[in-house]
Amino acid sequence: MKHYLKTFALLIVISSLPIILSNIFNFPSFKAQSDGLKGKEGSHFISSIEKKQLSPSFPVDEQINKVIYLTFDDGPNGYTQDILNILQSKNAHATFFLIKGNIDKHPTLLKEIIKKGNAVGCHSVSHRVDVFYSSPKVAINEMKVCQRAIYDQTRFHTPLIRVPFGSFPHLTNDIKNGLENENFIYWDWNIDSEDWTNNNPGQVYTNIVKQLNLTEKKGYIPTVLLHDKQVTVEMLPKLLDYLNEKGYKIKSITNANKPVQFNLHTSEPAS
Ligand SMILES: [Zn+2]
Repeated sequence: MKHYLKTFALLIVISSLPIILSNIFNFPSFKAQSDGLKGKEGSHFISSIEKKQLSPSFPVDEQINKVIYLTFDDGPNGYTQDILNILQSKNAHATFFLIKGNIDKHPTLLKEIIKKGNAVGCHSVSHRVDVFYSSPKVAINEMKVCQRAIYDQTRFHTPLIRVPFGSFPHLTNDIKNGLENENFIYWDWNIDSEDWTNNNPGQVYTNIVKQLNLTEKKGYIPTVLLHDKQVTVEMLPKLLDYLNEKGYKIKSITNANKPVQFNLHTSEPAS
């Protein structure tokens, strides 16, 4: 009987060895992850790490330094200052795709956007499908005129653009190549807040959060389409609180980032 008990004890020790060893060798990376995730998640961070590790498409590095890009189109206008104040109060930055006529009307707001550490890009002159997409020459010229307006006010040269209403279905290969030959970098999005069609702040917030979960599963860096609008101002504090709580770094786009672009034939994000 004694012999039997000894064998049993030995078996337990042997079967536990892999767990003991993996705990010893995993400890440094586990500590790095807990450092990266500490904060408001508090004691829940262990279970959140375990959950995220189940997703193979989301590398560990991006779990620790999750980034999100918020993009605001059609300004600057009467809502831009409120958006800037809210972003600053929540330690967030964003990217503003501006229309040339609005830059002329609100040059001080343009300077304020940049002064607060946000990025700017061009969003055309006409903002009209029938005009902007009529030829590569027109599209390139509109973006150059807009780029020049930003430069004249700020001495800041931006290659970032968003074509009116996004690249799908209007952007032809000819116009795309023409813009890229002029070193413009065009950005679409992978989360549509639908603030352009919806005036209910709660609904716009829900649209974003729902799509954010899908974007995470696919391993994309979430890039959100928003506009300088009243509904967006109203829902923005809640959205930023949510993103901060989830551990996102809310950053502006840089010229070095790989742009989110639709597949020109399907409207699905191509990257
Ligand atoms: Zn627009």
